[in-house]
Amino acid sequence: MKRIIFAAVALLTATAASAETYAIQAGRLIVDASQPARGASTVIVENGRIARIEPGATAPAGATVVDMRSRTVLPGLIDAHVHLTGDPGTPYWREAVDSNELAAVVGVKNALLTARAGFTTVRDLGAPGLSSFALRDAIRDGIVPGPRILASGGALSIVGGHGDVSGFRPEVNAALDPGGTCTGADQCALRVREWAKRGSDVIKITSTGGVLSQQGRGLEGHFDPAEIRAITSTAHRLGLKVAAHAHGARGIEDAARAGVDSIDHGTFADAAALRAVKASGAWFVPTMMAFTGVRDRLGKNIYTPVVEAKGRRALAQWGRALTEAHRTGVKIAFGTDAGVFEHGRNGEEAELMVRLGGMSPREVLISATTGAADLLGLANETGTLAPGKSADLIAVDGDPLADPAAVTRVNYVMVMGKPIPMR
Ligand SMILES: [Zn+2]
Repeated sequence: MKRIIFAAVALLTATAASAETYAIQAGRLIVDASQPARGASTVIVENGRIARIEPGATAPAGATVVDMRSRTVLPGLIDAHVHLTGDPGTPYWREAVDSNELAAVVGVKNALLTARAGFTTVRDLGAPGLSSFALRDAIRDGIVPGPRILASGGALSIVGGHGDVSGFRPEVNAALDPGGTCTGADQCALRVREWAKRGSDVIKITSTGGVLSQQGRGLEGHFDPAEIRAITSTAHRLGLKVAAHAHGARGIEDAARAGVDSIDHGTFADAAALRAVKASGAWFVPTMMAFTGVRDRLGKNIYTPVVEAKGRRALAQWGRALTEAHRTGVKIAFGTDAGVFEHGRNGEEAELMVRLGGMSPREVLISATTGAADLLGLANETGTLAPGKSADLIAVDGDPLADPAAVTRVNYVMVMGKPIPMR
């Protein structure tokens, strides 16, 4: 009985919160990362949306005032590449032990850590079973706090590729088959439709080998170009974008030419690959933080020998592809691969993009707001602060347009008009 009453109260509170009016008073306000910051301003939030933005510190009658007058208020950040349902350093054999239901619960923990770090939208690119869909829907319905999620569910992979299961006896590998492998254009198109039917918001493919799987077939292109073309045309017809995990240069080039919407990691991208990415209009999602996750775990008996070898090869390239992509004029969207490192450290990517990639703090902030919103197809909903848009905003200490580390000093987070509990 007590539990039922508690649940009813929680439900009432959640409903009341979304109808509440907020006056978020900012010392400095960034409404759009490509424009100069404004001085003291107040963002008025009604029914989960930005109603208006007023100069100075104002407070309409009945509004809940959020005093951020010593801070910078800006659009909520977007991470275009996370794995909320996993934690770093988990031994590979746990794949044969842990349930998909456990993954969803782990995701609840990580969603809150991610939102507290200032990320109000994430794209989850690879989770066991339907766990990322369950998490997405629970957050959307106000059951647990977290960022807005666009989820791929599983990933499409070649048989024996990065998204398949390797490392066990053949019959165990087969039993753990995540339902995303395909051979030939028809079967790959079928997998896209199956994942779309299950609830994918985006299709993830592992177009090349990957570092943290037990597959030993390198980091170059895995899919045949005709298979990738079948995936992109099928996905686009269903209104779904395609995110391509890609390390090797020729695999990156194949994926870009086949029309994927983002190249994620891009580790060994050379000039020809980057020209193809630029010509295709695909976004580059550099995941600099993923390299820290690998670096911090190499040589500690955490990874198997096959993973150690791939990890060392990839780490030797850290920052090179981003530097060249930035010079080439490739569109860059912020994404970290959180899950390969600890969730909640996503904001540290910004400083790495400046230091290793040669981007300006403003370019980094654009990549994490309007840039990533554009890639995710959410430009009308989030990424800037404007009347009518979803109330996705954060407050930080300092000026992220001058100091990229400012986005790691987050004091306040609102997702779709709901404040995130900060402790
Ligand atoms: Zn990933």
